[in-house]
Amino acid sequence: MSAWTNWVGNQSFAPREVIPVADEEEVQDQVARAAAAGRRVRTYGTGHSFTPIVETDVLLDTSSMRGISRVDVERQQVSAGPKTTIRDFGEPLWQHGLALANQGDIDTQAIAGVIATATHGSGRRLGSFSSALAGAKVVDGQGNRIEISTTSQPDLLPALQTSIGLLGIMTEVTISVVPAYELWARTDVMHFDQMIESFESDVEDFRHYGFFWMPTDASARLYNLEGAGADDCVVKRYREVPVGMSREDLGPHERVGRSYEIYPMVYDPNFHEVEYFLPIEDSKEVLRSMRELMLRWLPLSVYPLEIRVVGGEQAWMSPNYERDNLVVSISGQPGTDYWPYLRACDDLFAEFGGRPHWGKLHFMTRERVASLFPRHNDFVSVRRRLDPAGTFLNEHLEALFA
Ligand SMILES: Cc1cc2nc3c(=O)[nH]c(=O)nc-3n(C[C@H](O)[C@H](O)[C@H](O)COP(=O)(O)OP(=O)(O)OC[C@H]3O[C@@H](n4cnc5c(N)ncnc54)[C@H](O)[C@@H]3O)c2cc1C
Repeated sequence: MSAWTNWVGNQSFAPREVIPVADEEEVQDQVARAAAAGRRVRTYGTGHSFTPIVETDVLLDTSSMRGISRVDVERQQVSAGPKTTIRDFGEPLWQHGLALANQGDIDTQAIAGVIATATHGSGRRLGSFSSALAGAKVVDGQGNRIEISTTSQPDLLPALQTSIGLLGIMTEVTISVVPAYELWARTDVMHFDQMIESFESDVEDFRHYGFFWMPTDASARLYNLEGAGADDCVVKRYREVPVGMSREDLGPHERVGRSYEIYPMVYDPNFHEVEYFLPIEDSKEVLRSMRELMLRWLPLSVYPLEIRVVGGEQAWMSPNYERDNLVVSISGQPGTDYWPYLRACDDLFAEFGGRPHWGKLHFMTRERVASLFPRHNDFVSVRRRLDPAGTFLNEHLEALFA
């Protein structure tokens, strides 16, 4: 069987079988068959995770389970197949006067993948995709069909909201959405000191706040950014504005548009990313320490530092569980031995109780996960209940969640 490779190319494996599945029943059959044969089974979204969280024996391909199945305007909820991409929601929701509450840097991932890993955008008062999950149809480790939602087994919902695919295969998800909105987006280049000065007020004043800091003059180009030299930040500040706001009088660094058109950026697959979430109260200390560390580790640390803020949420295994965070993202350059640099960053994150993004490189052990995530034990209990034979585990996940 040919190898499966993730988007960036740092993870690949050869599954025994790749099986296309078209609906819930086929997923049930395949999970039951794999479990009976003592094989492990998982599925994938669009392979945008950097960690080995897809690897398995039997890989289910849900490509045909894509598309919106129901829009409930009154309850502000939308149901969709697991492979529906973030981009797929934009225009159809807009036609119903609705929109996703938040989005990350790209819109090509599958909805089940972003929910499973707590993929996030920015905003002090906004959670990740996990917090939007209102319910899902799930096939558990024995091939049973279960429904978990705010009304059906609601006690399991915060476990499912960030499940890393460990509780079952989601065959349909229902997410909460918001009334359609436009965004006014301003992007400024400013020196690190200037960013620090306005950091706290900017975080409070804007719906979305984030920036990239450049350790060198060459850094901006690596993330398709422009106009920023060494020690500069490219600061993104977005506000919600009434739909139809005039586009006249916009400055050269300003844009207005439908929310789903404003969020996405363009990345080339030329980086291997690490991302940790640290208590927002420690932001300034973390930012100054990261700047010093990255300057010390040049040229290994040439990629921009990406910073965002995210609000707390209830998903047990989300890094934002009951905590507002400063989100710190760094990258290793493919083709270099970047591990010593990433380890040095991990040491710094550990000092602040940094929690990892499950889709990005990290250095977690089971003990660390248990100490950082207060509901880790509860999550493991639910996992054991829904998947007693460990059909959805793989080597990487077994070490953390068996
Ligand atoms: C260029 C780039 C930009 C990114 N930007 C951001 C960002 O702005 N913010 C952020 O937080 N992250 C970001 N990420 C990380 C990315 O969003 C996450 O890794 C996300 O999980 C990828 O989604 P995917 O659809 O590719 O899922 P995959 O990587 O394919 O899968 C992720 C997990 O979901 C599980 N899964 C998939 N489908 C199902 C299902 N039907 N049922 C149960 N489990 C399932 C898989 O088994 C796996 O464990 C970025 C990554 C890249 C490469």
